[in-house]
Parts: sequence; structure tokens; C-alpha cells
Amino acid sequence: MYTTRPAAFDYHRPTSVDEAVALLSQLDDARPLAGGHSLLPAMKLRWSTPSALVDIGRIPGLDAIEADGDGLRIGALATHASVAASELVASRAPALADAAAMIGDRQVRNRGTIGGSLAHSDPGADYPTVVAALGARIAIAGSGGTRDVAAAGFFTGLFATALQPGELVTAVRVPAVPGSAYVKHKHPASGYAVVGAAAAVTADGTKLVIGGVTGVPVDVPVGPASPDGIPAAVRGALTNVIGDTYASAEYRTHLATVLARRALAKASGRAG
Ligand code: FAD
Repeated sequence: MYTTRPAAFDYHRPTSVDEAVALLSQLDDARPLAGGHSLLPAMKLRWSTPSALVDIGRIPGLDAIEADGDGLRIGALATHASVAASELVASRAPALADAAAMIGDRQVRNRGTIGGSLAHSDPGADYPTVVAALGARIAIAGSGGTRDVAAAGFFTGLFATALQPGELVTAVRVPAVPGSAYVKHKHPASGYAVVGAAAAVTADGTKLVIGGVTGVPVDVPVGPASPDGIPAAVRGALTNVIGDTYASAEYRTHLATVLARRALAKASGRAG
């Protein structure tokens, strides 16, 4: 049966991370609710039928964007709009600001959160590609305590992450990479990335990550390759490329080679 109404669920609104984590561990089949821009559409289509929602949206302080040494600490509830508008993000990790400003439309950017986007791990989402390129770490709280996971190991598959049931993303810690950039080819209706490319240029080397093509962000070893060698490096790194009604696997691969060069050029320009 087709429906646009979610199945019945209980609703809880904790006021602290500890309370949220306790609820998630006590309740059967409970899910955190943040901006609701991915979860609620899935519930309305009954792709997702949690018995309870734990609305973390009013937990004080979880939306803070602050300096963390030379880098950044971005709270899980920071909206895409606030990441896009943050001068701290623009100066320390401009690839994140690039991504945030290009997500969906104004409504989505005003409600959607960085923690929700990372936890959802949509193959067309923008942040996963960027946090992987920047070498960020995802801070997690659960009933067993807190831990943090390197972004590169956090995304484990299509809509799958290293989060255990009942765990919450609480923040993202991002090192300062002023020489970083993100570019994407948008789906014209939703804005999701058909393909995205993030590049980070530091004194230690260059990192290139491609998103939207296989379900998880893909690291492309660029080494000292000249710009002419980039397309071959990208093609070599991409396997099991998604082909769907938006773009064939061949077209996605081609886009990835083009966007890789653009992201690297933009990041190098910013690195000075
Ligand atoms: P929710 O919808 O509340 O939650 C999503 C999932 O994450 C749920 O499973 C929820 O239980 C879980 N969750 C939420 N927060 C946490 C947490 N802190 N810890 C653990 N689990 C958590 N995204 C892009 O990247 N690029 C786009 O161009 C884009 N375009 C969009 C266009 C439209 C029309 C729409 C509706 C969405 C679009 N999105 C896009 C997705 C948008 O960015 C979502 O807001 C985001 O993916 C999910 O964030 P949220 O805060 O809304 O999470």
C-alpha cells in the first residue's frame, strides 16, 4: 500500500546527550531525530518504521561551531546553513563551507544537520566526501561511553556507518586545511551529488576523495602525479561504480575525472 503518513511512533525530547543515549539504549527500535530531512521522508514512505523517535534537536550546545586548537569542532546539530555561514569554517576548512553551501535548497540547509547527514551516509550526500578528505574524526556517544572514529573508516556502505545501535554522533573534529575545496555535479532536482570531489592540499601531501560513485567516499592516491595523470588515477581507484537513472557508471566515472581536476586546482589555489 502506498502511503504518505508515517506508522505510529512514540516521541521523546531529551535535554542532554546522556538522557538521549539512555533513551536510545532502553527503547526498542528507537531512532534519533535531528533535522528530519532524511528520516521523516523515509518514515512517510514507510521505508523506516521506528517505534520511537528520540528528538535530539533541542539539546543545548550541540550545534556549536568552535575552534579546536588550530582546527574545528562542529557540533552534530550544526545546520548546513550555519556551517556555510561560519567564518571559522571558511578560513580553516573551506571545503566544508563549499559543501554546506551547495546542499539541497534553503529549507534543507536551514533544518538539515551535519550529524544527521554523516549518520545517514547517503551515497549522494556531500559531507562524507569532504570529512574523509580532510582527515576529520567523528565523535560518538553511546551507553558504553564516548569514542571517536576516523572519517575514513566511518562510512561502511550504502546508508551504513560504524555507529552501533543506540549511539549518537555528537561532533566532528576537523583539522585546519585552508588548502581544501569541494566541487560537485548536482542532481538538478534535489541538489544531491551525482558525483562530488574533495581535495586537501597540505605540506604533507595531497588528498583526493570522490563521492557519489560507489556508495562510500573513495580515496584516490594522487601522489606527485601531474594534472595529466589525474584521470587515470581516478579511473584506477573507482570500482563498482553506481549506474542509475540519473547517470550511467561510465558517465559518473567521466564526471569524477573532470571534478577531480577542478577540486585539486581550487584547493591548490587556496593553499597558495
Ligand atoms: P535526520 O533526517 O533527522 O536523520 C537522518 C538519519 O540519521 C536518521 O537515521 C537518524 O536517526 C540519524 N541521525 C540523525 N542525527 C544523528 C546523530 N547526531 N547521531 C546518530 N544518528 C543520527 N544532502 C546532501 O548532502 N546534499 C544535498 O544536495 C541534499 N539535498 C537534499 C534535498 C532534499 C529535498 C532533501 C529533503 C534532503 C537533501 N539532503 C541533501 C539531505 C539533507 O542534508 C539531510 O538533512 C541530511 O542528510 C540528514 O540530516 P538531518 O539532520 O535532516 O537528519
